Amino acid sequence: MADDEKKGGFLSDLFAPVGGFGVTFATMFRKVATTEYPEVKRPTAQRFHGRHQLNRHPDGLEKCVGCELCAWACPADAILVEGANNDDSEGGAGRFSPGERYGRVYQINYLRCIFCGLCIEACPTRALTMTNEYEIADNNRADLIFTKEQLLAPLQGGMLSPPHPMVEGLEERDYYLGSVSEATPTQKSWVDEHHVRTTEEVSS
Ligand code: SF4
Ligand code: SF4
Repeated sequence: MADDEKKGGFLSDLFAPVGGFGVTFATMFRKVATTEYPEVKRPTAQRFHGRHQLNRHPDGLEKCVGCELCAWACPADAILVEGANNDDSEGGAGRFSPGERYGRVYQINYLRCIFCGLCIEACPTRALTMTNEYEIADNNRADLIFTKEQLLAPLQGGMLSPPHPMVEGLEERDYYLGSVSEATPTQKSWVDEHHVRTTEEVSS
């Protein structure tokens, strides 16, 4: 190294030992960026991929038709679906979704899930979507396999808990065309008659 490069001025030599702390001192006076999680939770991005949800139609019937496309699309093999036929006959299991079939068993294994969102892209009925909820850590395997009951969206006002019939006079396609806005009196009477829990019982 040349002699010129070695030589500094008096002030330069004086502050040389603390020169490396420049960034530290400057940072000490900046606004603190730390979030005191879990007391304070930062809102996620709108399209953040969090816990899944199985959605319902406005009368409470489930949107899932048990087609298993989400399970086939999953690269981590995290989804288990077992479909079954809706059975409106007397003594049958009843109707859980419009149309032919519904998801009798539905599980997502969050030990495997990588939150890629391919399953929700594959779902033809928009039954499966992802919420912004990210607090799903746990310390045992069983609690990280979410069941259908855990994943189903809660009943909103105007919904009835399945099984119950479709809105009278409508077909499956009408549900996807937005022709259903809430459970009808006929559906309510059917539910009352068959002693199935109603929205009122759930919310009370
Ligand atoms: S988000 Fe990805 S990994 Fe998780 S269940 Fe869906 S497809 Fe599988
Ligand atoms: S969530 Fe969607 S893709 Fe998966 S089984 Fe149900 S309807 Fe099919």
